[in-house]
Amino acid sequence: MKLQQILLEMPAREPCPHCGHLVADWFREWYESESEQPMIYKGEKKAADCPHCHLGVKLAVIVGKADPIVPILARSRTAAENWVLQQKAGIYRNLNHFLQSNDPAAPDYRNYTFRA
Ligand SMILES: [Zn+2]
Repeated sequence: MKLQQILLEMPAREPCPHCGHLVADWFREWYESESEQPMIYKGEKKAADCPHCHLGVKLAVIVGKADPIVPILARSRTAAENWVLQQKAGIYRNLNHFLQSNDPAAPDYRNYTFRA
């Protein structure tokens, strides 16, 4: 599958396969596009984390449990900041502005620990 197709199939409004918490948007795009997103998609080499229980998930078309031996990678603050600037330009000034907003996707990540 090509990266472009992968990017079109972002999992949204799906429950965490570990804790069952419904996540409005899993934000695979808050990982670096070329280097990290394909790994997160397959759940091989790197796993994303659930913003609530922080267990490892793979973000394919459907959110699945990652193999427990796969290292978990937190979402990138830099990638998330860039996403706000590119996708939410003119609406939110920066990532914190977005996270404090009433956007339905924001609450899941208000207390999330990003990596730099
Ligand atoms: Zn969870």
